[in-house]
Amino acid sequence: MDPNALHNISYGMYVVSSDKDGKFNGQIANTIVQITSEPVALAASINKKNLTHEYIQSSGRFSISILEEGTPLSFIGKFGFKSGRQEDKFKGVKSTTLASGCPVVLDNAIGYIEIKVSRTFDCGTHTLFFGEMADSAILKSGKPMTYEYYHMVKRGTTPETAPTFIRGEVIKKEEIAMKKYKCVVCNYIYDPAAGDPDAGIPAGTPFEKLPDNWVCPVCGADKSQFVPVE
Ligand code: FE
Repeated sequence: MDPNALHNISYGMYVVSSDKDGKFNGQIANTIVQITSEPVALAASINKKNLTHEYIQSSGRFSISILEEGTPLSFIGKFGFKSGRQEDKFKGVKSTTLASGCPVVLDNAIGYIEIKVSRTFDCGTHTLFFGEMADSAILKSGKPMTYEYYHMVKRGTTPETAPTFIRGEVIKKEEIAMKKYKCVVCNYIYDPAAGDPDAGIPAGTPFEKLPDNWVCPVCGADKSQFVPVE
């Protein structure tokens, strides 16, 4: 058995949102699947520990915001690495409320789909929420972000293609100083070769030269939460 086979399964990047007692919450999810076409029905797998899980169970509905490829890591970090129990994730984010009362995140979304939950499946750590499409819209043209794309960007590295190896010999000395650093909170890896373009940090900036107020683009942790990658 080779678990690496799992890496060849494709996913998207979405914000799944729901509501409970007038409060909104959302989280990043990649396991969204259309199950049937007549009627149009979809399913989402949500971790039981997540606040959004509690909200979907309460309201029986959720929305799926389809994220575009250009979505900044900080936005994904806000919805993916922070809990709605600690902060209101909708604060400062463009969103709207659908006819049902279900919230939907509009920032960085190329479209959305609302699901009215008709069945749930207990999958151990997760619940699979299944239901028909209740509402949907396209917000703008664009390319949806795939999970693979996100991982490539998140690591801040280019795929393992020739340029890396060609450059390797030439800048060997510099590479010793240009160590990668890992965020202990979310496992994001700062790669000096890639920099942090979202934050205006050009490629080739060593970790040591990052401004003191630089924070992890994914989870917002400060520089003290980073350790060198061996
Ligand atoms: Fe982080």
